[in-house]
Amino acid sequence: MTRFWEPYQSWGNRLRVTETSCCGKYEWACQGGLFLILRHSVIGGYEEAGRGRYREARALWDELIHEHDQKHHRRAMATLASKKLKRNVA
Ligand SMILES: [Zn+2]
Repeated sequence: MTRFWEPYQSWGNRLRVTETSCCGKYEWACQGGLFLILRHSVIGGYEEAGRGRYREARALWDELIHEHDQKHHRRAMATLASKKLKRNVA
């Protein structure tokens, strides 16, 4: 399982996207009996990571989802802190 993002390769098989993460950041897909994670590339098109068997690919998916949730959490905490600060100043 790779954590590397590389340009998405179709391998000529039909791609099925079955799940989209929070904010549409990642997509869980299946192709030719293998699972992979997709995300939009900054230069256009898609990048893929974790292509492999379900267990390995899903472990990476869970990791990415967790990281993304943490970002939301940190941002929410920062917003809350700045609101409290403003209230204390006022
Ligand atoms: Zn999100």
